Amino acid sequence: MKICVLSGDGIGPEITAEAVRVLQALDRPFEMEEALLGGAAVDATGDPYPEATRKLARAADAVLLGAVGGPQWDALPREKRPERGLLGIRKDLNLFANLRPAILYPELANASTLKPEIVAGLDILIVRELTGDIYFGQPRGVREENGERVGFNTMVYSESEIRRIGHVAFQAAQKRNKRVCSVDKMNVLECTQLWRDVMIEIARDYPDVELSHMLVDNAAMQLVKAPRQFDVMVTGNMFGDILSDEASMLTGSIGMLPSASLDDKNKGLYEPSHGSAPDIAGQGVANPLATILSAAMMLRYTFGLEEDAARVENAVKQVLAQGYRTGDIYERGTRKVGTREMGDAVLAALAA
Ligand code: NAD
Repeated sequence: MKICVLSGDGIGPEITAEAVRVLQALDRPFEMEEALLGGAAVDATGDPYPEATRKLARAADAVLLGAVGGPQWDALPREKRPERGLLGIRKDLNLFANLRPAILYPELANASTLKPEIVAGLDILIVRELTGDIYFGQPRGVREENGERVGFNTMVYSESEIRRIGHVAFQAAQKRNKRVCSVDKMNVLECTQLWRDVMIEIARDYPDVELSHMLVDNAAMQLVKAPRQFDVMVTGNMFGDILSDEASMLTGSIGMLPSASLDDKNKGLYEPSHGSAPDIAGQGVANPLATILSAAMMLRYTFGLEEDAARVENAVKQVLAQGYRTGDIYERGTRKVGTREMGDAVLAALAA
């Protein structure tokens, strides 16, 4: 069980250290090796995704990533920016499935901008296709036509691309509440009519999972109206880009949200949904829970260690119930702690 640890920039090293401690506490034979990505890699080697990191990431079963980026690298040419390192590794590892849970622990219901009774206990998983769709389709561009500029992009999905993301969604649902809602725009877009047809075909392989369909405009409304109706939502790259951000904002606490990006052999890159938070870097105050929960996703999706994953997730629930809060989720009457102390609390809950 080889894990490549890329702590990255800003708060990355602080939050990753806590997730590594949690993995070590599980007493499994993980082999962890660290490498550089993003701004830290640019400073050391001139390349945001250096060859040594590429080698290690390719050889590993899973990658744990903190976050990359920061203002000190913003003026660099585009190919040298930290974000290039992130795009580079995602493409290099062929990570086509992005899994983003949006979970709102009852203790944090006040952090949401929605009414607590609408969102408390929210637990949905958005599965977004990451390497196809209108973001990559050809032809694309801007051309001159009849004396004016015309912009165009191509929405395209092959049956095999839809099939493989569909399987990821159905298999994820089997580990959850066994419901998949596929989101499309089949009333207007032929490409997404194919998406729907293929999802219906795949569903026959999963008789234990209930499949429903929703048009993307309705899905956007339902996410704010009655978000708890969903278990797993599966959709294409562009709709998923928008819906996953909408869903994460329902929770109001970006420091709590993990993510996973998988290839077709369950190799994965696991990272918090937030960025490198340069405004609080180096202060020991960042919330490490999104990264710890990303490590839990790694246990579940890459290593098949469902029990260990649930143990880590339960430990996180427990520290919230005990009142531990980092600054980003602090409320009066709770106990404000720093990054390390939060990690300590999770370790204590794991040991208990
Ligand atoms: P951000 O997510 O880093 O920060 C937004 C706000 O949330 C900040 O106020 C920050 O302090 C707070 N925050 C984020 N994570 C937190 C945590 N764990 N605990 C407590 N507070 C937290 O987004 P941004 O400010 O737009 O971007 C900062 C840098 O991060 C930029 O260079 C951006 O390119 C990069 N970025 C990287 C990733 C990634 O590595 N996947 C994702 C988004 C942004």
